Amino acid sequence: MILMKSRNIDLETVNARFEKAQPELILKWAIQEFEPRIALTSSFQTESIVLLHMVSQLNPAIEVLFLNTGWHFEETLKFKNEVITSLGLTNVMDLEALPGKREKSISSSDGKPYFKDPDHCCYINKVEPLELALKEVDAWISGLRRSQSKTRKDIQIVEEYQKGLFKINPLANVTSGDIWWYMKEHKLPVHPLFEKGYLSIGCWPCTKPVQPGDDERSGRWAGTEKTECGIHTFLRPKKISEGILEQKESKEEGGGI
Ligand code: SF4
Repeated sequence: MILMKSRNIDLETVNARFEKAQPELILKWAIQEFEPRIALTSSFQTESIVLLHMVSQLNPAIEVLFLNTGWHFEETLKFKNEVITSLGLTNVMDLEALPGKREKSISSSDGKPYFKDPDHCCYINKVEPLELALKEVDAWISGLRRSQSKTRKDIQIVEEYQKGLFKINPLANVTSGDIWWYMKEHKLPVHPLFEKGYLSIGCWPCTKPVQPGDDERSGRWAGTEKTECGIHTFLRPKKISEGILEQKESKEEGGGI
């Protein structure tokens, strides 16, 4: 294990410096500053390939974390393998729910935990495994863009996410048009569901095609108030934040309170 190094990064200065910088320059700085304690998260959807391509040009051995919920579209898993091969990525890791948690959520919800309690489903399949993986790094590269949705409009290029964990959003200022220009310029492949109207692609039970004129992420948890899975907010389902579910699970596991 490589231990965390203490850093004194002036966020105001660094964000002012990078506000108009090219994403590649931001990535280069982040890799130099944090390597080897840096990782990138990717959902291997259409837009993901841009960031993966940029990183692969700098260091194809950077750790890429993929949240394998077990509910990805077949097309996404196939696309993921194609992208890994074509970009020569050598360090892609699948993150899964802690042992037994996914099975338990399925058996207690008639097989559909994503409908019964989507926040809890996202928590055990995405938030919790990512939180654990991020304990091993000091910087997390994400593909968030300000123009994707209202919930993302205020993101900074470099954020101190938790004490000692920095989040780097090199694409914060990039538009959808820039993404497509880059993909065309570098002849990058397109996720097969894109042409069927899926502008943002997550798990199949929670993703629908986007209607013309709607926001890029409107197909995610469509028809509900949920807009984010929680990995960018470390959202906890209400019951967990109140300690109710944690207590219940701990008792079931014989841990006691
Ligand atoms: S996106 Fe849906 S299926 Fe995937 S983890 Fe969240 S609630 Fe579960």
